[in-house]
Amino acid sequence: MDLYEHQARELLHENGVLVPRAEVVDTAEAARAAAERLGGRVVIKAQVKTGGRGKAGGVKLADDPAAAELTARRILGMDIKGHTVHRVMVAEPVEVEREMYLGFTLDRAAGRFLAIASAEGGMEIEEVAARRPEAVARIAVDPAEGVTEAKAAEIAVAGGLPRETTGTIRRLWTVLTAHDALLVEVNPLVVTRDGSIVALDGKVTLDDNARFRQPSWDAADDRARDPLEARAAAAGIGYVKLDGEVGVIGNGAGLVMSTLDVVAGCGARPADFLDIGGGASAQVMADGLSLVLDDPDVRSVLVNVFGGITACDAVADGIVRALDTVALTKPLVVRLDGNNAARGRAILGQLAHPLVHQADTMDGAAARAAELAGSAASSATGTSDPSAA
Ligand code: GDP
Ligand code: MN
Repeated sequence: MDLYEHQARELLHENGVLVPRAEVVDTAEAARAAAERLGGRVVIKAQVKTGGRGKAGGVKLADDPAAAELTARRILGMDIKGHTVHRVMVAEPVEVEREMYLGFTLDRAAGRFLAIASAEGGMEIEEVAARRPEAVARIAVDPAEGVTEAKAAEIAVAGGLPRETTGTIRRLWTVLTAHDALLVEVNPLVVTRDGSIVALDGKVTLDDNARFRQPSWDAADDRARDPLEARAAAAGIGYVKLDGEVGVIGNGAGLVMSTLDVVAGCGARPADFLDIGGGASAQVMADGLSLVLDDPDVRSVLVNVFGGITACDAVADGIVRALDTVALTKPLVVRLDGNNAARGRAILGQLAHPLVHQADTMDGAAARAAELAGSAASSATGTSDPSAA
């Protein structure tokens, strides 16, 4: 997960890196008020998760609060490389003496981290790196040794950074390791007129694999805005909300992806991607089913399971258990194959629920679910409801 600049700035600040005073706002009026609090003259910066904001016109100096309001109004709503600007950071301007580049990133091939440092930081760093790679130093960092004072000095010397940056170099390393980041980048890191070392920008990418031990990330994550996705994340279920009307549940990402394709091939649209996983329990099946049934767009549900470690009887038990607590209001098509398929089918057969349909093949199940989604839609208007005839 990438962080916004203002979130990265927080992490740097907490770890002792100097950053300009700043506030984040989402209206032009609030930008004006923030500028008043910050002393009048401010820099207005678009908060989007992409680089090159400066070149795109998303970073502007404003001389006074009135100019801050006008500038914020221009930047809010702007599109930067496909990202809409919803918020701006209003920051105290810094008198820049020189701009440098400093970052740590993971070198997967080498199984090490990499410090990247350059005396020629700023908006042209990509051009510098392409045209004169020798101006951008890359120093391997052994994760077990970390960045000692000697290592920090080595990085500073290699990149041509002043000796005074070693403290900042070590603090950036602390941000990377303490927060399980894959990337911590400051461009530009500046020397100010009065000789301080200040991070003028910040980019941090957190390692999603470390989410289990970083509970504070959930608050920073704005991807799970959809309430169903948020609920799935809390239950530890792999779920992505889609636009269609056929709810899809399967085990294993590959099988679920193919199920989406087969549903689409039947002329219907999948309402979600839900993977109960390879070793799912009956409880996970129950949680997943109640989640999909709670999606108001879903008109039929297709459960497609190839039993392996999760045997089909456990999946059938999960469905039965889910129906104890969740009222089934939409047709459910179940295709069970693989480990203990016969037992699973028998359990569902015994259930004899009028809305639960079984199918032998994936294609047949998808066609049935698509058809039921259609008939569910028309029965809502009362035209093809057999009980009304
Ligand atoms: P990016 O283009 O997305 O990387 O955004 P940055 O935050 O790096 O800002 C772009 C450029 O604006 C920086 O490289 C600086 O040259 C300049 N800049 C940003 N804030 C200030 C500031 O407070 N003072 C000065 N003098 N320049 C700034
Ligand atoms: Mn930058």
